[in-house]
Amino acid sequence: MFREGANPDSMDMNDVLCDFCHAVWKEDIPMVEGHRGSCICGKCLRMAWGVVVSNKMNDSQGEATCRMCLEKREDPCYQSPAYEDALICRRCIRMSAHTLRIDDDGAWEMPERSDRVAE
Ligand SMILES: [Zn+2]
Ligand SMILES: [Zn+2]
Repeated sequence: MFREGANPDSMDMNDVLCDFCHAVWKEDIPMVEGHRGSCICGKCLRMAWGVVVSNKMNDSQGEATCRMCLEKREDPCYQSPAYEDALICRRCIRMSAHTLRIDDDGAWEMPERSDRVAE
Protein backbone atom coordinates (compact mmCIF):
# COMPACT_ATOMS: atom_id res chain seq x y z
CA MET A 1 0.00 0.00 0.00
CA PHE A 2 1.09 3.56 -0.42
CA ARG A 3 1.55 5.97 2.41
CA GLU A 4 -1.22 8.49 2.78
CA GLY A 5 -0.41 11.72 1.06
CA ALA A 6 2.29 10.15 -1.08
CA ASN A 7 2.82 11.89 -4.39
CA PRO A 8 2.12 9.35 -7.13
CA ASP A 9 4.45 11.20 -9.49
CA SER A 10 7.47 10.86 -7.30
CA MET A 11 7.14 7.70 -5.30
CA ASP A 12 9.99 6.65 -3.20
CA MET A 13 10.71 3.63 -1.05
CA ASN A 14 9.46 5.42 2.06
CA ASP A 15 6.05 5.79 0.46
CA VAL A 16 5.56 2.05 0.11
CA LEU A 17 4.19 0.12 3.07
CA CYS A 18 3.55 -3.56 3.56
CA ASP A 19 -0.20 -4.21 3.59
CA PHE A 20 0.24 -6.90 6.19
CA CYS A 21 2.31 -5.18 8.88
CA HIS A 22 2.38 -1.56 7.63
CA ALA A 23 6.17 -1.48 7.79
CA VAL A 24 7.92 0.94 5.48
CA TRP A 25 9.91 -0.56 2.65
CA LYS A 26 13.60 -0.60 3.45
CA GLU A 27 16.64 -1.72 1.54
CA ASP A 28 17.18 -4.77 3.69
CA ILE A 29 13.65 -6.12 3.46
CA PRO A 30 12.46 -7.29 0.08
CA MET A 31 8.95 -6.34 -0.96
CA VAL A 32 6.68 -7.93 -3.54
CA GLU A 33 4.03 -5.91 -5.29
CA GLY A 34 0.57 -7.17 -6.00
CA HIS A 35 -2.20 -5.40 -7.87
CA ARG A 36 -3.08 -1.76 -7.32
CA GLY A 37 -0.11 -1.04 -5.14
CA SER A 38 -0.69 -3.77 -2.58
CA CYS A 39 2.57 -5.08 -1.18
CA ILE A 40 3.86 -7.76 1.11
CA CYS A 41 7.25 -7.60 2.74
CA GLY A 42 9.65 -10.51 3.07
CA LYS A 43 8.93 -10.91 6.77
CA CYS A 44 5.20 -11.24 6.32
CA LEU A 45 5.70 -13.48 3.33
CA ARG A 46 7.90 -15.73 5.42
CA MET A 47 5.16 -15.95 8.05
CA ALA A 48 2.53 -16.60 5.43
CA TRP A 49 4.69 -19.30 3.90
CA GLY A 50 5.16 -20.90 7.30
CA VAL A 51 1.46 -20.89 8.15
CA VAL A 52 -0.02 -21.87 4.82
CA VAL A 53 2.59 -23.78 2.85
CA SER A 54 4.91 -25.38 5.41
CA ASN A 55 2.05 -26.42 7.66
CA LYS A 56 0.04 -27.52 4.64
CA MET A 57 -2.93 -25.54 5.77
CA ASN A 58 -5.98 -26.69 3.94
CA ASP A 59 -8.75 -24.71 5.55
CA SER A 60 -10.31 -22.33 3.18
CA GLN A 61 -12.02 -19.26 4.58
CA GLY A 62 -14.67 -19.63 1.95
CA GLU A 63 -14.49 -16.75 -0.43
CA ALA A 64 -11.72 -14.55 0.81
CA THR A 65 -10.57 -11.65 -1.27
CA CYS A 66 -6.82 -11.76 -1.63
CA ARG A 67 -5.07 -8.44 -1.20
CA MET A 68 -2.44 -9.23 -3.77
CA CYS A 69 -4.41 -10.57 -6.74
CA LEU A 70 -7.75 -8.98 -5.75
CA GLU A 71 -9.55 -12.17 -6.62
CA LYS A 72 -11.96 -14.10 -4.51
CA ARG A 73 -10.00 -17.20 -3.68
CA GLU A 74 -11.08 -20.49 -2.23
CA ASP A 75 -7.62 -21.76 -1.46
CA PRO A 76 -6.16 -21.31 2.02
CA CYS A 77 -5.24 -17.73 2.83
CA TYR A 78 -2.89 -16.17 5.32
CA GLN A 79 -4.48 -13.43 7.34
CA SER A 80 -2.37 -10.72 8.86
CA PRO A 81 -2.53 -10.97 12.68
CA ALA A 82 -2.54 -7.17 12.88
CA TYR A 83 -4.85 -6.17 10.03
CA GLU A 84 -7.86 -8.42 9.61
CA ASP A 85 -8.65 -7.38 6.09
CA ALA A 86 -5.16 -8.17 4.82
CA LEU A 87 -5.27 -11.62 3.27
CA ILE A 88 -2.99 -13.34 0.82
CA CYS A 89 -3.98 -16.52 -0.98
CA ARG A 90 -1.74 -19.54 -1.29
CA ARG A 91 -1.19 -18.97 -4.97
CA CYS A 92 0.12 -15.46 -4.33
CA ILE A 93 2.28 -16.67 -1.44
CA ARG A 94 3.91 -19.16 -3.78
CA MET A 95 4.33 -16.67 -6.59
CA SER A 96 5.72 -13.99 -4.31
CA ALA A 97 8.11 -16.41 -2.67
CA HIS A 98 9.28 -17.49 -6.07
CA THR A 99 9.80 -13.88 -7.12
CA LEU A 100 11.85 -13.05 -4.08
CA ARG A 101 14.05 -16.06 -4.35
CA ILE A 102 15.00 -15.15 -7.86
CA ASP A 103 15.25 -11.39 -7.56
CA ASP A 104 17.11 -11.18 -4.36
CA ASP A 105 20.25 -12.99 -5.40
CA GLY A 106 19.72 -15.65 -2.80
CA ALA A 107 20.09 -13.17 0.02
CA TRP A 108 16.53 -13.81 1.03
CA GLU A 109 16.03 -17.49 1.62
CA MET A 110 12.90 -19.50 1.86
CA PRO A 111 12.13 -20.62 5.40
CA GLU A 112 12.12 -24.21 4.28
CA ARG A 113 12.37 -26.04 1.02
CA SER A 114 9.07 -27.71 0.67
CA ASP A 115 8.13 -26.82 -2.86
CA ARG A 116 7.31 -30.39 -3.62
CA VAL A 117 3.88 -29.99 -2.09
CA ALA A 118 1.45 -31.07 -4.76
CA GLU A 119 -0.84 -28.37 -6.05
ZN1 LIG B 1 5.02 -6.93 6.28
ZN1 LIG C 1 -3.99 -13.95 -4.39
